Amino acid sequence: MSNPSLLILPGDGIGPEVMAEVRKVIDWFGEKRGIRFDVSEDLVGGCAYDAHGTPLTDATMAKAQEVDAVLLGAVGGPKYDKLDFSVKPERGLLRLRKEMDLFANLRPAQCFDALADFSSLKKDIVSGLDIMIIRELTSGVYFGEPRGIIKEGNERVGINTQRYTESEIARVARSAFELARKRSNKVCSMEKANVMESGVLWRDVVQEIHDAEYPDVELSHMYADAGAMQLTRWPKQFDVIVTDNLFGDLLSDLAAMLTGSLGMLPSASLGLPMANGRPKALYEPVHGSAPDIAGTGKANPCACILSFAMALRYSFDLGDEATRLEKAVEKVLADGVRTADLMQSGDGTSASTVEMGQAVIAALDASL
Ligand code: NAD
Repeated sequence: MSNPSLLILPGDGIGPEVMAEVRKVIDWFGEKRGIRFDVSEDLVGGCAYDAHGTPLTDATMAKAQEVDAVLLGAVGGPKYDKLDFSVKPERGLLRLRKEMDLFANLRPAQCFDALADFSSLKKDIVSGLDIMIIRELTSGVYFGEPRGIIKEGNERVGINTQRYTESEIARVARSAFELARKRSNKVCSMEKANVMESGVLWRDVVQEIHDAEYPDVELSHMYADAGAMQLTRWPKQFDVIVTDNLFGDLLSDLAAMLTGSLGMLPSASLGLPMANGRPKALYEPVHGSAPDIAGTGKANPCACILSFAMALRYSFDLGDEATRLEKAVEKVLADGVRTADLMQSGDGTSASTVEMGQAVIAALDASL
């Protein structure tokens, strides 16, 4: 049997710097654990625009559709800020998400004990936190029609439409229940059924899918505004949260910040299963291309490394190996190795991107 395939798109700014460390981790799994991938690499974002005049070529898009998983660094940078909207680096990423139909965005909010002091909340509220927010990514108010700014009498009116079909709600609800079964078996669905019809439908459909297909999973419903309050009051009450595109955008950022630095946050975007049973999948750190530190060797590679851990778990069913990698990152932090973003003033010397990568490899070696 051939190896599973991975398409790597390092992108712009710190993307290639953090991805170079992930490549070493991928090689480690091949050499030390016999888990080999057929890896190919290509351009996305500003670098693709520089080379081809488009942020994502049709050939790269076709490759992304064929592989078992795509791993992306980051796109964008000031050099491209003045480009026409249609060829901006972000369009490359949006095209990938849209054409691969990646409707479930998974954002874990996990607090490594060694970083609990970085949270804006008290240590006992966040330490040991491990929740997963699933945001619907391809529909809702960011895509609904009609939209626009129109003239009504002598003033302008801005319009966006929140629109969800039953099937759009059902498929993301299924993703949440499936995931919960692999975790603590609890889902909380968040909407605004008190003031929005789309919220009433959301609540009904999530409940119906639960009752018909996942009665073993504990399900609760919460209004999204109350959910925001509960996330800051006592986040450990949650396991999996499923919510729509707009509320998910806000709630996942809120939950992410409970845990400290952008440099630590991975994500996955999943679609429907392919013929081989694996879901269409794109893994990427939450952070951007960080032009302010690009080229200085200061970028934290952990978010990208942890995104690869998510790929091991969700695309390749290698949960134990994913845990091995997550524990290696945890050990490195516990040992006090820190990139600059994880330090407070007076904390001593920071590790470079490469040194952080080396420390993770050493911790992986120690795990054998
Ligand atoms: P950013 O995430 O790139 O940076 C925000 C801040 O966090 C910066 O101070 C940066 O130095 C720091 N930071 C981010 N990642 C880090 C890491 N791994 N290690 C250490 N520090 C890190 O967001 P921004 O500055 O708003 O955007 C910069 C560019 O990235 C823009 O062109 C934006 O459009 C793009 N962007 C891309 C993505 C993506 O590719 N998914 C996401 C967000 C922003």
